[in-house]
Amino acid sequence: MKITGIRTFLMHVGQPAAPTYATDGPKTQAFGAEGKLNGFRNWLFVKVETDEGITGIGECSGWPRVLQTAVEDLAHIVIGEDPMHIEKLWQKMQVAIMGHGMTGTVGGGAMTGIDMALWDIKGKALGVPVWQLLGGKIRDRVRIYTHANTAEVARSAQARGFSAIKCGGVSDPVRKVAELRDAVGADVDIAIDLHGPPWLTPADAARLARALEPYDLMWIEDPIAPENLSGYRRIRDAAHVPLAAGERSATIFGQRELIEEELVDVVQPDTGRGGGLTQMKKIAAMAEAHYIMMAPHSGSLGPVAEYAALHLLATIPNGLILERLEDDWPERRNIIRPYPEQTDGFLTVPDAPGLGCDIDEALVARYPSQGNTGIPAEAGNRSWVPGTWSEHLYVQTRTGRQRYFSGKDQE
Ligand SMILES: [Mg+2]
Repeated sequence: MKITGIRTFLMHVGQPAAPTYATDGPKTQAFGAEGKLNGFRNWLFVKVETDEGITGIGECSGWPRVLQTAVEDLAHIVIGEDPMHIEKLWQKMQVAIMGHGMTGTVGGGAMTGIDMALWDIKGKALGVPVWQLLGGKIRDRVRIYTHANTAEVARSAQARGFSAIKCGGVSDPVRKVAELRDAVGADVDIAIDLHGPPWLTPADAARLARALEPYDLMWIEDPIAPENLSGYRRIRDAAHVPLAAGERSATIFGQRELIEEELVDVVQPDTGRGGGLTQMKKIAAMAEAHYIMMAPHSGSLGPVAEYAALHLLATIPNGLILERLEDDWPERRNIIRPYPEQTDGFLTVPDAPGLGCDIDEALVARYPSQGNTGIPAEAGNRSWVPGTWSEHLYVQTRTGRQRYFSGKDQE
């Protein structure tokens, strides 16, 4: 079998969302109707075609418009090759782009889309699901968590069967977590994502982590900028709360220090940009050797990457849980066939050959990409307003610190 071509499918829905770095949280972080982030998705799907008529599907997440160019740039590396030799092709792609860096999510994302499609092709060619190729499954269902930032949403998730939720943003996190814990009781796991704001120093993050200790969190995610690895050590030494990170790094090389230095309890490579299933399986093994769990990230993750995550998590012993975006955009369930329905907070591991899914190409074409960068220009006019997202990222809590840490910034 030979690879004959690669096609890309770029799509976009909704309004751009600003980074969630701000101490003022939801008051200014969103720009959609009524300030809701729901509905903003950028997805890039990839199809690898072969001379035997088998087509594999993959997905790249992160910065899709850039990734589309990167995938097209990689196409000639793999066209003409045997798609069954996945490891060889991954290494070939890596060598081809190594001059641009070994750990970035752009290169990692582009290789992910192609790599994912190769696993899909191999499964279809052999008539087995991808999880069979990854070593066989140790679980039939994968536990998932959904997002909830208010008591009302948390109770709704709990009523629908979810046993884990995650809140986000750095606006008064202790009070937010306390409200969620009060709303759902002890039977639902709670995580919080601080999104690694550059202004949150390790000392401040450690203080927050200590304050969050009583709530028995599933994890605190990106408590500081993820590049600040020595800062993670300081937070770990100061507080007894599980830490999670890794969504912005790709490949085993990008996750190496987080794991080897045991800076986190949960590693979170993104299934759509972590370097593909080829890398995710290796990252999971590295983590396992350090008693670190894996909970793949799903930031802008689309439905094909979710399928890939299900196959992966079916096979790794240290697979903790999968991030699930199910209410972000009503058409999500129509883009992918078949749509994985959640039941009691779990998704069922697919059994069809390959990944077991396909996209509706015509529906994708109805939503052309417009751009991948947030922060609308008019919002930028409010730059340097103390305590807002638009204030310089490094100085937000250098003013009004007492208000922020006391929670009075919400009053
Ligand atoms: Mg995150």
